[in-house]
Amino acid sequence: MTRPVRVRFAPSPTGPLHIGGVRTALYNYLFARRHGGRMILRIEDTDSQRFVPGAEAYIIESLKWCGIGIDEGVEQGGPHAPYRQSERREIYLKYALQLVENGWAYYAFDTADELNALRKEYESRGETFAYNATVREQLATSLVLPADEVRARIERGDQWVIRFKMPAGEIVKMHDLIRGDVEVNTSTLDDKVLYKSADALPTYHLANIVDDHLMEISHVIRGEEWLPSLPLHCLLYRAFGWEDTQPEFAHLPLLLKPTGGGKLSKRDGDKMGFPVFPLFWQSPTGETAHGYREDGYFPEAFINMLALLGWNPGTEQEFFTMQELIDSFSLERVSKSGARFQPDKARWFNAQYMHRKTDAELAVVYQPILREHGIEVSDEVAGKAAGIMKERAQLTTDLWDLTSYFFIAPTEYEEKQVRKYWKGQNPEILRELRGVLEGIDDFSKEHTEEVVHAWIEQKGYGMGQVMNTLRLALVGAGKGPGMYDVTEFIGKQECLRRIDHLLATLKPAE
Ligand code: GLU
Repeated sequence: MTRPVRVRFAPSPTGPLHIGGVRTALYNYLFARRHGGRMILRIEDTDSQRFVPGAEAYIIESLKWCGIGIDEGVEQGGPHAPYRQSERREIYLKYALQLVENGWAYYAFDTADELNALRKEYESRGETFAYNATVREQLATSLVLPADEVRARIERGDQWVIRFKMPAGEIVKMHDLIRGDVEVNTSTLDDKVLYKSADALPTYHLANIVDDHLMEISHVIRGEEWLPSLPLHCLLYRAFGWEDTQPEFAHLPLLLKPTGGGKLSKRDGDKMGFPVFPLFWQSPTGETAHGYREDGYFPEAFINMLALLGWNPGTEQEFFTMQELIDSFSLERVSKSGARFQPDKARWFNAQYMHRKTDAELAVVYQPILREHGIEVSDEVAGKAAGIMKERAQLTTDLWDLTSYFFIAPTEYEEKQVRKYWKGQNPEILRELRGVLEGIDDFSKEHTEEVVHAWIEQKGYGMGQVMNTLRLALVGAGKGPGMYDVTEFIGKQECLRRIDHLLATLKPAE
């Protein structure tokens, strides 16, 4: 009987969710959906030192924006609720004590000062202190202290921790679905803390293993930074006697800096002007960070780009809907080596999605931006403006700059254009053109173009001179789409008003 697929995304709410974390969530989600399994969101908030208020809400909102659905979690509930580790705190002590009883763990009473002193002493000899098999029997632990003293220390309220008793000199053999077989000699590992009396909380390792077991997780798909913890995790499964139901592991490659060397960080984003977080973030102390959503990206484009950072479909296909990703995803096609993040590629993907949007879809993203600029128009008008210029936009935040003249008449005129076109015969020609436009009833772009072009030909005027002078009046600058897109969009009365304004306010050059 194959086991039902149950995967979890298990972030710690220590700040905004990095896009590497979003990719981990995405791959878990794709894997779950591909195999008809369940996707669980578990909040790992047992490290009170690193807890950041607002981070959990940020994580949840990010996943929603990305379209990464959760089946069981802090919001949804589920058969293994609660899904926030701080609400499961009573569960863990029992398991830590079980390991002490069966000899896989022990109490340690060293104070922080004592440990610091030891670290310093080792450093002074050019060595690094590690709490491990070589030293643990010389320290204040239940391995060496008489049982009644251990009891007495606990009863009088001394602080203690429970540490894992790492076996010495054993080769742990592990299997990773992406990396294959991995072996580690336990002599290179230390005795990790599993539980702390000071805050009556487990550490990450214990809580993570206990919860993955209790929540019947079948596959652990997580970032490469957790690979060094894998031997301990496998040994914990053995220590608890849970080897039969131990999940399979897949450690995803790192997201690398655009320059290749090292993990993608917020500093890279700040330096090169791209976000490394899905949403805008403001920390409780006021620091802020850019997000893809607020910077004008479509979630579908962001997800498409992110999916391909570390996974490839094995075909030429480049554009994927979420459903297509689900249909084609497999862990076998996730690469072992780090994936270099390319900000240009992220923008390129967004531009491709932008170009494929209908006016109605564009209206949805453009209306809030228009309202921010005080523009109240129908969805149809908003969508039409965005639609005319979408080929030149990469991000939705580009749209206002590209289309603002559709909504606001120019009051200033670009100097370069003025010098070039607001001289000689042109003001007079514009006055004439005003008369021609005024006489047109059907102001559709095709008809206006026909009439105006016939007039230009008949008069023998230069096409470029006339059109650029008109552009100066209607747009105020040398930018914008074809002139007849503008005339049709703003309509006859507004065209005439803008021409009158230029004629009345700007003295021609010379
Ligand atoms: N809480 C860990 C993190 O923040 C989870 C690691 C895991 O998936 O095991 O990434």
